[in-house]
Amino acid sequence: MTTENADIEARAVVIASGAFQMPRIPAISSAFSPEVRQLTATSYRNPSQVPAGTVLVAGDGATGRQIALELAATHKVLLATGRSRRVTPERVLGRSVFWWLDHLGVLRASRNTRIGRRMMAGDPFPGRGLALPRLRKAGVAVMPRLAAGHGKTVRFADGGVADIGAVVWATGYRDDSDWVGMPAAKGPDGDFVESRGVSPVPGLYFVGRSWQWTRGSALLTGVDADAAYVTAQITRTLVDHHASSQRT
Ligand SMILES: Cc1cc2nc3c(=O)[nH]c(=O)nc-3n(C[C@H](O)[C@H](O)[C@H](O)COP(=O)(O)OP(=O)(O)OC[C@H]3O[C@@H](n4cnc5c(N)ncnc54)[C@H](O)[C@@H]3O)c2cc1C
Repeated sequence: MTTENADIEARAVVIASGAFQMPRIPAISSAFSPEVRQLTATSYRNPSQVPAGTVLVAGDGATGRQIALELAATHKVLLATGRSRRVTPERVLGRSVFWWLDHLGVLRASRNTRIGRRMMAGDPFPGRGLALPRLRKAGVAVMPRLAAGHGKTVRFADGGVADIGAVVWATGYRDDSDWVGMPAAKGPDGDFVESRGVSPVPGLYFVGRSWQWTRGSALLTGVDADAAYVTAQITRTLVDHHASSQRT
């Protein structure tokens, strides 16, 4: 492993470089004319960055919906939506919804359990003000999935078309994995490959990835269990390695 200051040899390496590293931008983006201002959820700061006229916000997770709502005060906003998402209240009986999810065990239900699978499929997020009817009321045009783009024109999954002057990509994140020179550590899209934090590359581990094991895997509430599991795997591997080297 090479750092800015030294080369380090290690039997085990844990990559904890974060679950939300680089904006995931769909290939459609390259079909737009240079006149279309393209921003991401990372580069977007406020509506003054967006030229007057129609702006497409692509992606209706919590981030896309918040940006669409903010832009609706000053721009004509189209929001391209993906799969249907559930929106929960932020607080229930005076407590954060995450407090309840943690105490009811939902944040710690593994991706292999029924409740874990339901959480993954529904992918709910808190913020009643972000429900689609509220956005429509604020003037946001809620559109189906973005299907294609060409020049300044976008086409949606229902065949509807519109001309836009800007787009904000709020379509999720991908791994920054260029610095890891082990092809087996990555899938075809460059994202890291792991199973419960264990890479197919011997000695390589991960902590803090989205849904690494539970909904809590990439949250402060929940990462501890994954860290304990990965630590146990590393310890076991190193002990086994030590025992076999003693025998030979
Ligand atoms: C919009 C948003 C809202 C969120 N809200 C919450 C919330 O309310 N509660 C909550 O618990 N979580 C929330 N999260 C998740 C939050 O990101 C994680 O809980 C927490 O930051 C994870 O910590 P981490 O150390 O795993 O990763 P990070 O905080 O992302 O830290 C990773 C670090 O690794 C560094 N790094 C990357 N590559 C390298 C490299 N090659 N070499 C050295 N260092 C490197 C990065 O610079 C960074 O400092 C939110 C995330 C987002 C995007």
